[in-house]
Amino acid sequence: MSSHPNSLSAIDRAHIVHPYANLRANEQGQPLIVSRGDGVFVIDDQGRRYIEGVAALWYASLGFSENRLAEAAYRQMRTLPCYHAFGNKISDVTVELTQRLIAIAPAGLRHVFYSSSGSEANDTAMKIVRYYNNALGRPQKKKIISRHFAYHGTTLATSSLTGVPRNHFDFDVPAPDVLHADFPGAYRGARPGESEEEFASRLAESLEALILREGAENIAAFWAEPVMGVGGVIIPPRTYFDKVQAVLRRHDILFVVDEVISGFGRLGDMFGSTTFGLEPDMVVLAKALTSGYLPMSALLMNDRVYDAVADNSVRHGVLGHGYTYTAHPAPAAVALETLKIYEELDIVSRVRALAPRFKQGLQETMTSSIVGEARAIGLIGGLEIVADKATKAKFPPEVAAAKLVEMKCLDHGLILRALGDVLAISPPLIISGEELEDLLRRLKLGLADAERDLAGRGLMKAA
Ligand code: PLP
Repeated sequence: MSSHPNSLSAIDRAHIVHPYANLRANEQGQPLIVSRGDGVFVIDDQGRRYIEGVAALWYASLGFSENRLAEAAYRQMRTLPCYHAFGNKISDVTVELTQRLIAIAPAGLRHVFYSSSGSEANDTAMKIVRYYNNALGRPQKKKIISRHFAYHGTTLATSSLTGVPRNHFDFDVPAPDVLHADFPGAYRGARPGESEEEFASRLAESLEALILREGAENIAAFWAEPVMGVGGVIIPPRTYFDKVQAVLRRHDILFVVDEVISGFGRLGDMFGSTTFGLEPDMVVLAKALTSGYLPMSALLMNDRVYDAVADNSVRHGVLGHGYTYTAHPAPAAVALETLKIYEELDIVSRVRALAPRFKQGLQETMTSSIVGEARAIGLIGGLEIVADKATKAKFPPEVAAAKLVEMKCLDHGLILRALGDVLAISPPLIISGEELEDLLRRLKLGLADAERDLAGRGLMKAA
């Protein structure tokens, strides 16, 4: 047991209720205590350096030591450390941020509601969907369609949108007014011999069948991440979104695009909506809006939604919704500086320049007998960890094979994240070509160790 002064005793460990943890196991183990950041690296309390290969929670696009963001926050804290946006008040820095945000936003989205997290922004969007349809005099048009394995947050409302089973267990969600359409992952979902386009058509037909079964007059909105993140880095099949959008238009259903991960360059465009030709009514942004340095999210709306909401606020006297920290000036200052840095670095071009090598490097891992598929777009990727590549059979859940790879990579100074059977890779967007090679080298070492470990335990098919 380590005698380092920062080591936590068992009782201390039980004080911190970690999200997404086996809490009893955490009480026994030693946490990874992270003390410092340096570019794409984080450094633990023992001085060990790790490449943060998932940009923490997909958000640290500018890495972990961008002084300009620290200074922007400090400057703002000294000038106007806090203020709000209730009624007609607003901090000057939020006005400047909004102008910049709207200038780069997907076409037609020019109204912004700020919150502090992706969950709050999605929660707000769920409420706006209700408010909108009530305002239009169609109170029955309320149900929302999300997708299996979608991730949109964990508040009481948004955990219903989320389609990951572990986010539902014993929380009494999803609520009956949220339905889940098919999962768009071809590796597990497409039929043998089915082309991407055929798979996409089948998904769109199935979505339309669901709408007709429920009655289009009852369906208010469809929610989607351009590329599913937490669900396992799922890149939709070609033509999927064209076909889905045609269905939504036919049935007058709002389209809410959750760009909490895909926003600000991750996929090789400023927004995933551009990558896939989406025409959303609302877009949810968070994470890389501030490179994660301070909490802030934004819900963008088009005129169609905003006008109905604005008119309804007149009817009721006010829009009866808002958070204390809506449009807080400190994160707003950090977001403004973040957007300036993205522009100066031409972050989208940087991602595009690295994306081919990133994808190729991940595909090279397919020589490992436990990588069933390697997929990537921009600077986000996922490896499907399988027991048998030919049959795509998974390891038994208790083996937690992707988690094992995650732990083996950690031994090689690389932080990644297992999401079920998928290993996610999503480095800071400022990663250099050399650092990317280093990441790929460490990933291959981690995979080889995991393979050896699994073989040693007799868990692999004999070659
Ligand atoms: N939407 C997406 C696509 C996400 O990936 C996340 C978090 O990972 C959220 C929403 C929820 O954001 P938050 O954890 O800030 O509430």
